[in-house]
Amino acid sequence: MTINLGIVPPAPREERLARIDNARPQVLVIGGGINGASVYRELALNGVEVVLADKADFCAGASSALSRMVHGGLRYLENGEFDLVREALDERNRLLLNAPHLVRPLRTVVPIDSWMSGTLNAPLKFLGLTRAPSRRGALPLKLGLSFYDIYTRGRGGMPKHAFLSRRKVIARFPGFPDRVRCAATYFDGQVSHPERVVTEIFEDVARAGGKATALNYLAVTHIGPAGVVLQDRIGGGTVTCVPEIIINAAGAWVDLTNNCLAAPPCPAMVEGTKGSHLMIDHPGLREILGDDMVYYENIDGRICIMFVLHGMVLVGSTDLKVPDPDAVRCEADERAYILDGLKYVFPDIEVRDDQIRFIFSGVRPLPVSAAGTTGQIPRGHFTQWLIPATPGAHAPILCMIGGKWTTFRAFGELAANDTLDRLGLKRRCGTETLAIGGGLSYPEDPDAWVADLAARSGLPLPRVATLLSRYGTLAQALAEAFAGEQPLPGLAGYSDREIDYLIAHEQVETLEDLALRRTVIALAGQLDGAAIAALADRLARAKGWSEDERAARVSAFEDRLLADHGIARSRLGNPDCNREVAAQ
Ligand SMILES: Cc1cc2nc3c(=O)[nH]c(=O)nc-3n(C[C@H](O)[C@H](O)[C@H](O)COP(=O)(O)OP(=O)(O)OC[C@H]3O[C@@H](n4cnc5c(N)ncnc54)[C@H](O)[C@@H]3O)c2cc1C
Repeated sequence: MTINLGIVPPAPREERLARIDNARPQVLVIGGGINGASVYRELALNGVEVVLADKADFCAGASSALSRMVHGGLRYLENGEFDLVREALDERNRLLLNAPHLVRPLRTVVPIDSWMSGTLNAPLKFLGLTRAPSRRGALPLKLGLSFYDIYTRGRGGMPKHAFLSRRKVIARFPGFPDRVRCAATYFDGQVSHPERVVTEIFEDVARAGGKATALNYLAVTHIGPAGVVLQDRIGGGTVTCVPEIIINAAGAWVDLTNNCLAAPPCPAMVEGTKGSHLMIDHPGLREILGDDMVYYENIDGRICIMFVLHGMVLVGSTDLKVPDPDAVRCEADERAYILDGLKYVFPDIEVRDDQIRFIFSGVRPLPVSAAGTTGQIPRGHFTQWLIPATPGAHAPILCMIGGKWTTFRAFGELAANDTLDRLGLKRRCGTETLAIGGGLSYPEDPDAWVADLAARSGLPLPRVATLLSRYGTLAQALAEAFAGEQPLPGLAGYSDREIDYLIAHEQVETLEDLALRRTVIALAGQLDGAAIAALADRLARAKGWSEDERAARVSAFEDRLLADHGIARSRLGNPDCNREVAAQ
């Protein structure tokens, strides 16, 4: 099902692979997370011929595992990362304007247990004289939040911070424990669906008509005699291309990727820390939180967060060094740590196992550092060239190291500037004020816009409102094309036409792509046997899978959900799983 969104519908995969094979693009970007997508957009819009390849699905790494905060990073002030916080606040404000359908203000509430504690700890940490996480009292928070306010003043930012007395904070959150003396409130941002930002960046590039191709499930494996070898993980073949410059945007895989391309020993650049989140279906907690995020200290003093996202409560996260970014999942001790923290801030809330509807983990691509604790590893970003010792052994590799999701535009801009310099090209345009996808011409009065489109398309008002919140103003073309859509069994909020549209337009290859990244079905706790069957039917039809292949794909997906995402066996429809349950 193709819909005219002002872009040529994507060519079949084989055609796009053929376009890459034996090509001599100016730039090959390795990695289709948010940072790879960002530099790809910068280069393509500036007339550079660029290919992007991801070994898995786009955003299968850290870019779908974040806490979904679009933030300055209050905590980073303790580590003295003032420039990062300043840059991140600027980028947060830009995203609120450039992608208003996906990035929205988020009121944040910080429960405070003491007035002064941490006042000395922050400067001591900054000077490297202590490593221990400490509790943060009202005074150091006041200083940090004042920095936020001073910096964002006059920059189209958000309302100033405020302090709530114990009486007021208990009136708002009666469940807080007795030790809470007051609370601070301030505004940051949240991104509802970060994977869509990447999809829309690719669509924007296609719409601009640049010489650019982005392909998922295409792994850069090594350099052969004919150039960089990329393995097609769908069809099984390989293609080769000869870029002038390689950009290594492989996140936590930066070092592994360098070691595939350049002669060892390559310098170690990144060290990953794993973070996990739980999506909890708890009506009581959902009601308590409302539209606020609670930004709280866990028992060990580490900052954790919880807020309502897609009808579930998102709670996280952890921060643990891991050697292998390909083998991460939320372990039992992490899950216990997250639940203990929840109980520490809301002692009366009981979470049952069956209320944990989805779990996800990812690896932060942090720079190698001598920091004593993971929390002290710098969160900023920088680039580093890897130039071959033997001239011509491989193209120069520009490595993108570190970076927050929030700062992706600035990081992409930095890497693009380095690349343009090396190619001897001048920048033609920038992205500071460029709308992303459905953020273009976003209505000042969304309700009137929705009412008008509902009248024209014949779709019910709430459905058009959902489409606006998912796709921004792209909803206009979609709503008209979805007229006559049918609901899907077990998948409230999605229709046959919407799923068919995503499959046809957005390089969907697997059930996981569809359920975890192109939609928020998994995050919204909707994944069960019926939902998986409905998605598998649409995907099998579009891809021409046989009955056996469909069954094998469903079974593999369910195994993955059981092993990595904490979905209860009893929720899945795979007969093999049910047999195991019966045998237990
Ligand atoms: C738990 C957690 C919470 C976080 N919370 C926040 C937050 O609230 N706010 C915020 O701003 N940031 C947050 N972050 C940080 C943010 O998510 C990351 O900094 C950002 O997503 C990194 O993006 P990336 O594109 O560099 O890496 P990734 O998204 O990991 O992308 C790298 C890509 O490279 C691909 N790749 C690897 N090797 C190869 C190869 N050989 N060939 C082809 N492709 C390859 C991978 O498949 C992957 O898709 C969080 C991160 C984590 C893990």
